Amino acid sequence: MSTFHLRISTPDGLIFDDEVTGLKARMIDGDVGILANHANYVSAVGAGEAVIRLPDGQTRKAACIGGMLSVISNEAHLIATTFEWADDIDLERAKLAKERAEKRLTEAKDNAREVALAEAKLRRALVRIGVKS
Ligand code: ATP
Repeated sequence: MSTFHLRISTPDGLIFDDEVTGLKARMIDGDVGILANHANYVSAVGAGEAVIRLPDGQTRKAACIGGMLSVISNEAHLIATTFEWADDIDLERAKLAKERAEKRLTEAKDNAREVALAEAKLRRALVRIGVKS
């Protein structure tokens, strides 16, 4: 299967820099699948699971939240706010974060700023839990 170059970076640095056969990730308006020779493309990253398919057929899953994805001349660059490989995610920590966020959401009542913060924390926890399951 044809490959393309994928570079993934976060504020912590370069996370991945290699040839892949596919990338699936959640954009703000839904999932996108990138294969070799995809048309040039730029989009804002949403919050969800990212799946990378390697040339040997193996896949790697990650939690991918926020940032930008570009595909230019068959090179993809994912600049993510958060990118955590499934192996690095602590499921228990994510479950506890989910519980805290749900409690915070209940207590936020009609405080819009507090609701938005609690929802963002809940979304991140749910993405991490989803990637691990
Ligand atoms: P928590 O309340 O558990 O810290 P959070 O949503 O507030 O969750 P973030 O602000 O998104 O956490 O992340 C802070 C740092 O902790 C980041 O470096 C992130 O990669 C890491 N992190 C957060 N949750 C987990 C997890 N469940 N497993 C591994 N790393 C995590």
